[in-house]
Amino acid sequence: MSFNLNNLLRDNIKKLVPYSSARDEFKGEASVLLDANENAFGSPYTTNYHRYPDPLQHRVKEKIYKIKGVPTENIFLGNGSDEAIDILFRAFCRPGKDNVILVPPTYGMYEVSANINDVECRKVNLTRDFQLDIDGIEAAVDGNTKLIFVCSPNNPTGNSIRRQDIETLLVNFEGLVVVDEAYINFSKLPSFTKDLSEFPNLVVLQTLSKAWGLAALRLGMAFASKDIIAVFNKIKPPYNINQATQEIVLEALDNVTLVNTWIQEVVSEREKLAVALSSLEQVEHVTPSDANFILVKLQEPRALYNFLVSKGIIVRDRSRVELCEGCLRITVGTPEENVALLEMVAVFYGSSSL
Ligand SMILES: *Cc1c(COP(=O)(O)O)cnc(C)c1O
Repeated sequence: MSFNLNNLLRDNIKKLVPYSSARDEFKGEASVLLDANENAFGSPYTTNYHRYPDPLQHRVKEKIYKIKGVPTENIFLGNGSDEAIDILFRAFCRPGKDNVILVPPTYGMYEVSANINDVECRKVNLTRDFQLDIDGIEAAVDGNTKLIFVCSPNNPTGNSIRRQDIETLLVNFEGLVVVDEAYINFSKLPSFTKDLSEFPNLVVLQTLSKAWGLAALRLGMAFASKDIIAVFNKIKPPYNINQATQEIVLEALDNVTLVNTWIQEVVSEREKLAVALSSLEQVEHVTPSDANFILVKLQEPRALYNFLVSKGIIVRDRSRVELCEGCLRITVGTPEENVALLEMVAVFYGSSSL
């Protein structure tokens, strides 16, 4: 079966003439810029932000290429991964007609974005061990299925999805397979960015919001074939990554070594936390995690959640999510934060078992 991007694209997007900004029409050095109706005097601030930023963020992409080895023409940068997710719906899914496959329990934004765009979600639950139900997915796909979202390592379960199964989808599905790797830095498994040339229908999402510690700057990345990236660039708002974010990210990306040290520490803390929680008799199960959080099935999840809130410790209550019944999702914090969490869990169960 041969993949054809043109068959997937919505007609209006195929025909779309993208906005051509002042910075698209004139590139290069000039001393007098009177083309974009900016304030020529400057900004009422210590740094000048009066000029529109680079629409295609060339310098940031160049640095991401150096870190990840993905050529710049295969990179899209968005205002968070959420922008990339939304663009996928707008480019490929006809409202009220097309559908996408979601595999819950998983990240909630795919469904929200689908609903905003009036696109049907066909849900095929993960199996009991939080892996893909390949037969179920195959049965749910029809001629109007455009996207399959797979989050690996998965949020909120923390485990990685078997690579072989994702490849089965990539080979057999005629739409796009979106592999969300927001937590890939915490996993020992290789990223799917290495496989972009093999799979023309692969889109990999990553973000600077988690391991990179830059959530407030809002920078998400999509990696895909040059043709898919061209579609993203055609649809995105012209200046979707602001100048302050571009400048700060450019500097922050020089600190790979520090980030790698943090990743190692998070992974080691994650294992300590998992062992400590598993040793409690009220804890039924800790799902092995490749992310910076753990999903823990335990007794009285709701009461424990409220108790922790009363002590100023906030975790995520997933206890009423299908397949996560009885579970809390706990982000790995600093060693001190993790000790504080464990102490309060012990206090809660100590008092409740009296
Ligand atoms: C946190 C997270 C993201 C990141 O979203 P941003 O908009 O880039 O902050 C993406 N996908 C998943 C599964 C996440 O958990």
